[in-house]
Amino acid sequence: MKPLDCARIEADLAAVAADEASGDAAGRVSAHVAHCEDCRALLQSYRATELELGALRKPPVDAVHVVRARQRLELGIADLRRRIVRYAVFPSPLGDVLVATSELGVVLVEYLRGRDVHWPAAL
Ligand SMILES: [Zn+2]
Repeated sequence: MKPLDCARIEADLAAVAADEASGDAAGRVSAHVAHCEDCRALLQSYRATELELGALRKPPVDAVHVVRARQRLELGIADLRRRIVRYAVFPSPLGDVLVATSELGVVLVEYLRGRDVHWPAAL
């Protein structure tokens, strides 16, 4: 079982290793590890772990891949926008008229006379 001082300092050890300790905590850790070999070793292992985690947190970013991914995304969005169609049915003297639009404009106009179609008034 760890001595009480060691148990109390452990959270501060982790904070120091992560470079997130306050000045007071860093001072307590420095004073403790000066005379406690176990905690000095623990601090070193925490620092080694932090270094490895740091490498994982910063994956290498390939700028070319980012640009290509953005282009693919923009093309996909443009294609999706062409497909987005809204419908509305308007009454006319010749019968109801279905008008469908996308972001590119009107894509369909069709008379519904004689058809048993129940379009919502607007989507
Ligand atoms: Zn200790």
